[in-house]
Amino acid sequence: MSDFIEEVKKRRTFAIISHPDAGKTTLTEKFLLYGGAIQEAGMVKGKRQSKHAVSDWMEIEKQRGISVTSSVLQFNYDGFCINILDTPGHQDFSEDTYRTLMAADSAVMVIDGSKGVEDQTRKLFKVCAMRHIPIFTFINKMDREAKDPYELMEEIERELGVETCAVNWPIGCGKDFKGVYERKKEEVIRFMPVQGGKKEVDVEICDAHDESLKEKIGDLLYQQLQDDIELLDGAGAEFDLERVQRGELSPVCFGSALTNFGVEPFLKHFLDMTTSPLPRNSNIGEIDPLSEDFSAFVFKIQANMNKAHRDRMAFMRICSGKFTKGMEVFHYQGNKKIKLNQSKQIMAENREEVEEAYSGDIIGVFDPGIFSIGDTICMPKNKFAYEGIPTFAPEHFAMIRNTDTMKRKQFVKGVEQIAQEGAIQIFTELGGGMEEIIVGVVGVLQFEVLAYRLKNEYNVDIVNTPLPYQYIRWIKNKEIDLKKLNLSSDTKKVQDLKGQYLLLFSNEWGVRWANDKNPDLQLAEFSNN
Ligand code: GDP
Repeated sequence: MSDFIEEVKKRRTFAIISHPDAGKTTLTEKFLLYGGAIQEAGMVKGKRQSKHAVSDWMEIEKQRGISVTSSVLQFNYDGFCINILDTPGHQDFSEDTYRTLMAADSAVMVIDGSKGVEDQTRKLFKVCAMRHIPIFTFINKMDREAKDPYELMEEIERELGVETCAVNWPIGCGKDFKGVYERKKEEVIRFMPVQGGKKEVDVEICDAHDESLKEKIGDLLYQQLQDDIELLDGAGAEFDLERVQRGELSPVCFGSALTNFGVEPFLKHFLDMTTSPLPRNSNIGEIDPLSEDFSAFVFKIQANMNKAHRDRMAFMRICSGKFTKGMEVFHYQGNKKIKLNQSKQIMAENREEVEEAYSGDIIGVFDPGIFSIGDTICMPKNKFAYEGIPTFAPEHFAMIRNTDTMKRKQFVKGVEQIAQEGAIQIFTELGGGMEEIIVGVVGVLQFEVLAYRLKNEYNVDIVNTPLPYQYIRWIKNKEIDLKKLNLSSDTKKVQDLKGQYLLLFSNEWGVRWANDKNPDLQLAEFSNN
């Protein structure tokens, strides 16, 4: 095998998703710990405290204890090169999560064992299902009183519409969480607590049917385990790797990220079952990740990630070939040759210049304002575009105004930049200027992030007036005379950044009215570009 192929084959790129507080950050940290990427887990008690998890970036995340941005972490473990894409846990950021999932080949879903499937898990899962990527479930917090494991599996099947297959099984829970039973090997991994947040937990491997286990875990749990072993073999879906890889069957593992119980077994199982980078669709057919020609697509853009570096980064997922620093590539949407400079790999707040990266990796490159989400970068000799990333229609709208007219320039720049990142969509009145801007967002928390970022990064204060609109339609036929449209009185005509005309409606009735009364009007739910 050539070095190049070997590098690609050892890549595993996955997103990690969960309801806030289920333990995603803790699990990620433990993965990093196993990979030797960090020396000691943050032992984050709460993000409001001074010691923060490595994957947290923005102040607001720390204040609110939620992840707003997604970060990318890379580490090596057991011969694999692993890229973890952390996703925002809050439901308001599902659009960002969706884009991140576009860059992943599989997903790890963390579920709190005492809570089961929570609202956010449901929504995120749908987003995963849209991508048909494999989903691996880690049922966390087994060191606390948890729901019955059968019930948890059933809940996942019922609520998320995917079959489950237990790869291992918990022995007890709460203070009595003794270990997991590994079904394939028919052995028990017993966990022995170690002091502090240091690396591995001590484990002991025993035969599941060995009588000596009785003494170690107690008669009751031993008997329970024997019963479970029988029950498990008769119940639940059979393990089928192909179905896992099609996203139809989710392998389930149990553990406790905080105490490190079951984290390494999960990581091993997961790596066993996931694939190296998969082919992706483009307008010239599937692109082979093992092709030596470099190609990538942009799935995230972010400005001012770090106050010390006032710049804008475009994050791209490499889908084929090898990246080398300063290489000349072709930006399909810009129809231009460009040099990829200042490429970074991000490890929380530390940025390292990358010299080379391979298919499956994520790199952030300096963006002078040329990239948009979904753009393709390829080699000049073989031009093509990857399938685009759909945008969600905004569901909440507000009028925002800058309170200090002296800061008009910063205000406009800030709002435009944040809109280009895809965090908000902005509209103006027909023929109106940028004094008052209508902002549309998918989740209301994005308004808060917008106000915070404008203040923090651009030193601008805004007032925000909520607007009652709920539906948005782009006007497809540009030649139509807008003045002559017969619209309900609460329908608003606006234009977007690209000068396209749109209508904002407060209710469905308004949309119907516009369609019924204006037979020539053609409305679309998505923008043309
Ligand atoms: P995230 O919001 O999903 O990233 O969740 P965090 O990793 O920040 O965890 C939320 C809280 O749950 C923190 O206080 C963690 O210390 C705690 N936690 C995480 N994993 C476990 C676990 O396995 N057991 C227990 N008891 N607590 C945990």
